[in-house]
Amino acid sequence: MADVLFTNVRILDGTLAHPVAGSVLVQGNRIRAVGRSTAPISGTGATVIDGAGATLMPGMCEAHTHFSWNDAATLAAIQTLPLEEHVLWCAKVAKKYLEAGYTSCVGAACAKPRLDVVIRNAINAGQIPGPRYLAASQEITVLGALGDETLPHLPFPEFSFGVNVTGAEEMRKAVRLFLKYGVDSIKLNLSGDNFTPQSPSETNWMLDEEVAAAMTEVRIRGKRGTAHARSAASVKQALRHGIDVIYHASYTDEETLDMLEAARDRVFVAPGIAILYAMLHEAEPWGVTHAQAVAMGYQHEWDHAIESLKAMHKRGVRILFGGDYGFAFTPHGQNARDLEFFVKYLGFTPAEAIRCATQYGGQIMMKSNELGLVKEGFLADLLLVDGDPLANLAILRDPKRILAVMKDGAWAKAPEIAAERVWGRAA
Ligand SMILES: [Zn+2]
Repeated sequence: MADVLFTNVRILDGTLAHPVAGSVLVQGNRIRAVGRSTAPISGTGATVIDGAGATLMPGMCEAHTHFSWNDAATLAAIQTLPLEEHVLWCAKVAKKYLEAGYTSCVGAACAKPRLDVVIRNAINAGQIPGPRYLAASQEITVLGALGDETLPHLPFPEFSFGVNVTGAEEMRKAVRLFLKYGVDSIKLNLSGDNFTPQSPSETNWMLDEEVAAAMTEVRIRGKRGTAHARSAASVKQALRHGIDVIYHASYTDEETLDMLEAARDRVFVAPGIAILYAMLHEAEPWGVTHAQAVAMGYQHEWDHAIESLKAMHKRGVRILFGGDYGFAFTPHGQNARDLEFFVKYLGFTPAEAIRCATQYGGQIMMKSNELGLVKEGFLADLLLVDGDPLANLAILRDPKRILAVMKDGAWAKAPEIAAERVWGRAA
């Protein structure tokens, strides 16, 4: 791996610090030096990339990723894709994420038992390109809840999107099976979801004894529990049982917010609000009109989610971006739209939104001391971006503006190194 010296770049380091002009030296897979002035830093023998004023920032982390969601409009259409095609699909999506600037992704459930594990292992072995990846289990659920797609006349588990369990012992067995396969996290569907009318968002499904059994097994293996938790009661249940990653958290009350704040050094919230917005305003081509979406409860949930997330943000709870891309209404690749939503609807500054994808990304990847910042000694996961993301976050979802992507010191998307080329600087 040749050393690389980025010169003439605006360094956006992933904290809330103002960007500065400077240069950055990468040696091997680490950031070796960060020069915060236009004075040259020495990088003898390194390949020099003249950024021409482009922004150099940390690679982004998507905190709620489903490689195996196949841009379909129903859970059944995701689940019924045959396994062989499904593996190829996941590999294609992993490459797409990396090239779009997501150098880390947190798996938030997969559609067949080993898809996430196999893709993570293939990435780590260098067989396929993809982000650093934490592999999830399938969704574990209970009969009648989100993820139970079995039909009365076809009671076969293979037809179900999630794994159905009843009672602590079945939970234990399901969790142990996923741990045997090598997952990094176990996903529990604690609340319902308006996507499945028989189990809407504010309903609660799992018994404490079932969650406790799951988390006992998770702790024995030193892994992590994650939860689909839209209702206030489900968020509290997740917090009571030591679940670290809470997906959605749309509904909260004062007690929930107090508990989240008390756990804010441990817990991450990845709300994935784009799916709520898309169902309300963009799902008509797939048969869900605005009026239908309102009737399904999406406006109610949107209104509550905005208030809940604003309150969490004020209380210093770490809210991360990403979530539930891979449906027809939220296709893979538009993930960075969440950052714009955080600014527009939740009152984040653009720098705070970027911190969700960078510094907090390193933290949720469990590498807070070496991932997610442009900082000496950190892993060289870097993006070279045409323009100023702080002035226009939409740049981050435009492939043409992502000039280069480096993961672990190697190019995932190499820059064009033409002497005459000067990258645009307009926001
Ligand atoms: Zn999800």
